[in-house]
Amino acid sequence: MISVEEALGILLSNLPDRKVEEVPFRSALGRILAEDLTATCNIPPFHRSAVDGFAVLASDVEHAPVELELVGESRAGGGMPGKLASGQAIAIMTGAPVPEGADSVQMVEQCQVSGSGKRVTILKPVKVRENIAPCGSEAREGEIVLESGHRLGPAEIAVMATFGYGSVKVYRKPTVAIFATGDELVEFDQAPRPDQIRNSNAYCLAAQLRYMDIEADYLGIARDDRDALREKMLLGLERDLLIITGGVSMGEYDLVQDVFHELGLEILFSKVAIKPGKPTVFARKGDRLVFGLPGNPISALITFECFVRPALGRLCGRKKPELPRMKGELLADMKQSPGRMAFMPAWVFWEEDGWKVEPLAWKSSADITGFAHANATFIFPKNRDFLSRGEKVELMLLPDFFVRQR
Ligand code: AMP
Ligand code: MG
Repeated sequence: MISVEEALGILLSNLPDRKVEEVPFRSALGRILAEDLTATCNIPPFHRSAVDGFAVLASDVEHAPVELELVGESRAGGGMPGKLASGQAIAIMTGAPVPEGADSVQMVEQCQVSGSGKRVTILKPVKVRENIAPCGSEAREGEIVLESGHRLGPAEIAVMATFGYGSVKVYRKPTVAIFATGDELVEFDQAPRPDQIRNSNAYCLAAQLRYMDIEADYLGIARDDRDALREKMLLGLERDLLIITGGVSMGEYDLVQDVFHELGLEILFSKVAIKPGKPTVFARKGDRLVFGLPGNPISALITFECFVRPALGRLCGRKKPELPRMKGELLADMKQSPGRMAFMPAWVFWEEDGWKVEPLAWKSSADITGFAHANATFIFPKNRDFLSRGEKVELMLLPDFFVRQR
């Protein structure tokens, strides 16, 4: 059995090359840039006034109040203004070019126009470059403004518009398929027989994928026999990544790994010291990745976040797709049998002096109903059998942590 860290190491060293596609910039929200974008012009493209006021020579108004000759105006989009000489001022609006010869702008509140608009009194001195954003001070033509690997949010969309990038190269989203296994499973809209349960994992995983902006293809339920498993696996292997739940433990009818062998998949790990989720399997065939997650609903959910997310996120181009970690104060004593790193469901909340961790009562790794009240998990280190109330524990926040309320 390998440790969680070893499993992650194996995962990350077995990822195929990421693929790139070009998309219109407006459709690039949430995608990861696969090229460096450079400034195609200086921003601002001219010395730009930051206020409404009067463009002057700072040395002219050193001993303000000083009256200057008002020789014109500069407004945003109103053409480039003429040159300014000593003793002169130009009325200027926010966003407009500062005329050549001027080196500062005094704001309108500090100025008084007189002589029926022919003269202006500057009431206070200004410093050189005051209220001016110099040409190229925000971006200089040719410099890299967004690097490959940068996630594109609204501000980045604005940057692409600013520099006229109509389309950009981003990492292609991997295609993903899911199927569930188990003779006991029926779909949510069917009435289970006394010996059956409804399939919840496939829908849980599809929702977890949706939090990663991935729409998965759901291939249905495979019965616990080799033919059924083979058929769905072959379909799933047409995608970049296949997630299977159930059938990876040691039982008589856990046939997933047998069929992996049959289909020539390379099994890279098949047992991890994690709780829940020990029988997690990771395999590949060429550049196709396959995860066999345990069937217990919490095991499937946790192993998705611990193993599938880091792999899939990187295929999407993300540098660090892991769920955020932080520390919080445990509010109860906790016991476990050591040997595996455990992820325990918790409700985490802020209180004056820090994050508090309230462990949730959960009955087993099957108890998804209990888990539904968690917004995070806390980590029980694998070499510990007891954690005391008041101890600081490491948390792995669930993806919707910051939007969940109680
Ligand atoms: P397995 O990993 O196939 O041994 O399944 C472990 C447990 O998880 C069993 O109690 C299964 O009935 C249950 N289980 C397996 N697949 C699912 C599923 N898709 N949805 C809900 N429970 C499942
Ligand atoms: Mg099963």
